[in-house]
Amino acid sequence: MDKRELTIDYFLFPNRFPAEYENLCRKAIEASACSYSVYSEFAVGAALLLENGEIVTGSNQENAAYPSGMCAERTALFYAGAAFPDIPVRALAIAACYKGLPRENFVPPCGACRQVMAETIKRYNQDFDVVMIGQKESVMLKASALLPFAFSF
Ligand SMILES: [Zn+2]
Repeated sequence: MDKRELTIDYFLFPNRFPAEYENLCRKAIEASACSYSVYSEFAVGAALLLENGEIVTGSNQENAAYPSGMCAERTALFYAGAAFPDIPVRALAIAACYKGLPRENFVPPCGACRQVMAETIKRYNQDFDVVMIGQKESVMLKASALLPFAFSF
């Protein structure tokens, strides 16, 4: 038996955004205002920067039949995949508000969104940056770090 260890690198940005993604982070915050989150009051915005410079945004869209809703990250990723199928993703920024107030701490993506990010990496054979925005700090890491041993076949 061999014991192995996984480590991830991530970067903290206290009270600010990574400089290279400042505009993208602002777009993610703006996108949270388009959330349809009447049940949870948890509004999430996502902004994707594509390799052609295009920015695609998404927000969470809830439904009375809860599983029929969709997260902000997947809304943006699926739209980008449909509208720009040949363009890889360079970065994804995620912001969240609860009851109209920005979250103090950054909000990591759910497991389903991480799986879709893993598929996006596979689809374009290219990893991308993820920025999780909080009032206190933002965190940046590679999408591949969010889901080690992602399902694939
Ligand atoms: Zn999600």
